Amino acid sequence: MKTIGLIGGMSWESTVSYYQQINRDIKNTLGGFHSAKIILFSLDFAEIEQMQKQGDWEQSAKVLIEAATTLEKAGADCLVICTNTMHKVADDISAAVDIPLIHIADSTAIELQQHNITKVGLLGTRFTMQETFYKNRLVDKFGIEVVVPSERQQSLVHSIIYQELCLGIIQPVSKDIFLTAIDDLVNDGAQAIILGCTEIGLLVQQNMTPARLFDTAAIHASKAAEFALITP
Ligand code: GLU
Repeated sequence: MKTIGLIGGMSWESTVSYYQQINRDIKNTLGGFHSAKIILFSLDFAEIEQMQKQGDWEQSAKVLIEAATTLEKAGADCLVICTNTMHKVADDISAAVDIPLIHIADSTAIELQQHNITKVGLLGTRFTMQETFYKNRLVDKFGIEVVVPSERQQSLVHSIIYQELCLGIIQPVSKDIFLTAIDDLVNDGAQAIILGCTEIGLLVQQNMTPARLFDTAAIHASKAAEFALITP
């Protein structure tokens, strides 16, 4: 079994989900006492969040590269950045190491293609919903059309992520806001919804909506477990 290198802590609330999902997948496949070989580099999200707010992506890339090279030296066979937003600097990180980076958008797109989804709704931070680093990857590399919520809903979703979910706060009123945004995306033609922020799954689950949900944290973690199991 290969060793998975996680760059986590962004926020740690969702890194917990990765740790659980990867271990569950390994146990489901290998059985018994089997568990995943994981090296976790958990960052201080307060520092990263400041850099995001200031638009200092260059500095945040440096911090993540430091984590990535440390994981590589420690023996990780692959890298997993446990957040959608920080994939904005994924190419810089990938270029700094010799081990493969398992990309969160690619992992999700492969899953969408397997379900014949060609038009998808995207929920995430404002960076993920508005900028091109994530959406264009889905469109250009996988031919999947992406719809995002209205400006007003994007603001609500963004603030719930930072002011509640990343702090471990789960509120029914926020769940309703997300469910309305999901309904509206479906009305705009989305055949499925990407939970494109790794904390959203803590608030919204499949049994709450008829819309088909693709939880990036769960999908990404499962792809990491798959890598660890099938890579020779
Ligand atoms: N974990 C979130 C994501 O998947 C947001 C926190 C961050 O900005 O990294 O985008």
